[in-house]
Amino acid sequence: MRAGLEVHQQLDVGKLFCSCPSELSEEVRGVFVRRLRPARGEETRVDAATEFQAARGLAYRYEVSPASCLVEMDEEPPHPLNPAALDVALTLALLLDARPVDEIEVMRKIVVDGSNTSGFQRTALVAVDGRLEVGGRSVSILSICLEEDAARKVKESATEVTYRLDRLGIPLVEIATGPEIGSGAQAREVAEELGALLRSTRRTRRGIGSIREDLNVSAEGGQRIEIKGVQELRKIQEYVEREVARQETLLAVRDELRRRSARAPASEVADVSERIRAPTTGPLSAPARRGGPVLALRLPGFAGLLAAPGRSEERLGRELADQARAAGLKGLLHSDELPGYGLDEATVASLRESLGLGRDDAFVLVADPQRSRAEEALRRVAARAAAALEGIPGETRDPLPDGRTRYSRPLPGRDRMYPETDIAPIAVTAEHLARLGEALPERPGALRERLARETRLAPEVVRQLVAGDHIAALEELVGKGHTPALVARLLIQDLPAVPREEGAAEFEPGVRVLG
Ligand SMILES: [Zn+2]
Repeated sequence: MRAGLEVHQQLDVGKLFCSCPSELSEEVRGVFVRRLRPARGEETRVDAATEFQAARGLAYRYEVSPASCLVEMDEEPPHPLNPAALDVALTLALLLDARPVDEIEVMRKIVVDGSNTSGFQRTALVAVDGRLEVGGRSVSILSICLEEDAARKVKESATEVTYRLDRLGIPLVEIATGPEIGSGAQAREVAEELGALLRSTRRTRRGIGSIREDLNVSAEGGQRIEIKGVQELRKIQEYVEREVARQETLLAVRDELRRRSARAPASEVADVSERIRAPTTGPLSAPARRGGPVLALRLPGFAGLLAAPGRSEERLGRELADQARAAGLKGLLHSDELPGYGLDEATVASLRESLGLGRDDAFVLVADPQRSRAEEALRRVAARAAAALEGIPGETRDPLPDGRTRYSRPLPGRDRMYPETDIAPIAVTAEHLARLGEALPERPGALRERLARETRLAPEVVRQLVAGDHIAALEELVGKGHTPALVARLLIQDLPAVPREEGAAEFEPGVRVLG
């Protein structure tokens, strides 16, 4: 397997293109609503991710925070780039032995989910071609960028997404590694080391959501999948390992489909509402009760391949259900999980007969009060089933709290950058770099060595203290005369075991919690 990371760290230096504070707020001063329309690019094509999002027909509602300004509402041009944020990004470039660009060019990167009021995110390449030493191995750093954070999603329904403007425009440093990471454990190590390096600048925001990771993962013979927005670093290993398992399962399914000479399913659907009289449970029950039609799609050659093989939790059936969800349904039922959900053996047998299915054939059922939506769901399911014959479709996936991921949308195309014409390029001079080079912060490796020397704690304990962002607390408590071993145990064992109240995670770990 191969994996690469993209780390996004918020900076605590005010916003990137205006003078608002980089603080989140629970207060709302007003709302406005916008919609995004897809348009053809200069190459006359509409981007796949754009088309997908436009088909959902969503309205975007924005909550204005007390500290928001017209830049965040996209009613005023951006102000010049925040120089303190640029200094942090260039300092990181020096720490990572990367090559800063001669000139910072701010670009507009199209975003399709409404998370920016303008429809694009401003981003600037700061440096390329660096490296990071982790656990005796060198990982390449492809790029270091400075970009504006997106608005914060606070609510979502089938027709509308609500965002708050407080997070929009907070500076983010984005560091992308090469795809040389060879295991989930290594991915976690690299993320921890980059996190420690970012914190060494002492200009980073803290708390939940202040650091977010995108994971690019492909199993051997598989496909690059992007898992976007992982907030819990300790789960990185699990997300990577489960993604590899998912791809391996899907590749095995593909091989079996090919062995059976299965073909892509026909898009023709059958209305089987009449055959399902008994009340059902599961995703069909609510729409069927409301009189929505139950539609079936034949999947010739797919029998037994929709359920999880053996003890794996990964299965093609879940991928198909994700497509039904992308169309706005609660899910679907497939023949590998039937009889069940209120459908008895006789009903299933009569369904199979009416659909003209053989022993190797499978089917899926969906229901929705809107027939057109049920049909759209089955179109998506048919396309996903057809893709199973090829292998694994490239896509963006959302991380779930239980360590699994879920289909989010197709991978965006590459051609979605455009120059930001409102901001002049900024030259990066040798004098500027020399000035930053004279004030470089202590690197995590040097910090660990110094702490081990001063506290006489074991290297592994020191590693955990640095990775867990406990250095300020450690230094303060040891400075008050407490023994390092006791403080270390408190910070890395006892404190994380204390159940947190709702919202308590927003507090700085360590000092403030201890009072
Ligand atoms: Zn502002």
